[in-house]
Amino acid sequence: MMQSDTAGDRYQRYGLIDWFDCNRLRQARIVVVGAGAVGNEVLKNLTLLGVGHIRIFDFDTIEPHNLPRSVLFRDTDIDRYKADVAAAACRRLDPGVDILPVNADFWQALTLEQIAESDAVVCCADNYEARTGLNQLCLMARTDFYNTGIDSRYSSVEMFPFATRAASACYECTLPPSVYTAMQKRYSCGRLRKVSYEEKKVPTTPITSSLAGAVVASMLLHRLNGHAQAQQEAVRQFHDSISLASTVSVIQRQDNCPGCATIDPSAVRLTAKRSCTPHAGLPSACAAGVEVVLSEPVLLGGTCTRCGRRQDYFASVRQVNDAVTFCPVCQAQSVVTEFVERLSLDEFEATFAGRDVPCKFITCHTGNRQVVVEMEI
Ligand SMILES: [Zn+2]
Ligand SMILES: [Zn+2]
Repeated sequence: MMQSDTAGDRYQRYGLIDWFDCNRLRQARIVVVGAGAVGNEVLKNLTLLGVGHIRIFDFDTIEPHNLPRSVLFRDTDIDRYKADVAAAACRRLDPGVDILPVNADFWQALTLEQIAESDAVVCCADNYEARTGLNQLCLMARTDFYNTGIDSRYSSVEMFPFATRAASACYECTLPPSVYTAMQKRYSCGRLRKVSYEEKKVPTTPITSSLAGAVVASMLLHRLNGHAQAQQEAVRQFHDSISLASTVSVIQRQDNCPGCATIDPSAVRLTAKRSCTPHAGLPSACAAGVEVVLSEPVLLGGTCTRCGRRQDYFASVRQVNDAVTFCPVCQAQSVVTEFVERLSLDEFEATFAGRDVPCKFITCHTGNRQVVVEMEI
């Protein structure tokens, strides 16, 4: 007899596995950043495992070269948003999945509150800025962070159990200095994105992307089920698809890490309207002697050293590029830029009075206390 398509019938075989908790997976909330090759695999696996709530963040659209490595995309999807198409494909795999695509950069569209309400964030992006940014947000929100990386031969998956281990190692603990050097190459003066910079293309295959997607799904499945053998420490699983060698190594916390050593996971978190001064939202005891650190540098303005022309920007460094150093009057790269990143509370209020605060969040430091104020989206 035909059975009706209810979640219970669909996933009843998983219920025969002694450690598999279908209800726990149905309640799980997972954020996936990046709906490219690895993102496709992760989303497909999470949906087929019966994960109930998925959010996908990707601002990119589908190009022909994505098709051979993306199980959820078809020829007719070219030029459509990756997140939209991936979500629609997952709904076809399981119409009961609550899956929400967000066609935007996670830094703009994903809040700390949304991360804190999630069981895990999975980074399937292919760049270090996204990985370090998500690592930072997950550390602050105390949410498990999974990172993926592939090329044509190797797949690597890292799991950082921030939800259960306050002193867990983080993604930046073992990041070699060469990565920071490579990141700096994209920027002029260390801050402004170079318009002319061409990202190096790393070729990948569905073999390494599906390996990474399977490992992420497996780690998540066992963490969510509270499986006794699930990894409890920060770990890296590394697979060589040619020799078939595979290793699992514990990632050690580094005392001087630029990520976890600077973030206090027990900091108070608040939200504020971009247009109002965050002072109002802070405990009054914090007001004296507060140092404000912006989540990213803010470009206040630029002044041409030749003609003296001044232009105000008040923009996050993520919203501008090195074109702002070009003076349209002098037709030369003659503009000196003015950034702020750390300032006193008084300076902060004077600088941003009556304006929108363009960064994602600010951190207020008094003594050894931190208050994080996130700007409303
Ligand atoms: Zn760290
Ligand atoms: Zn000029």
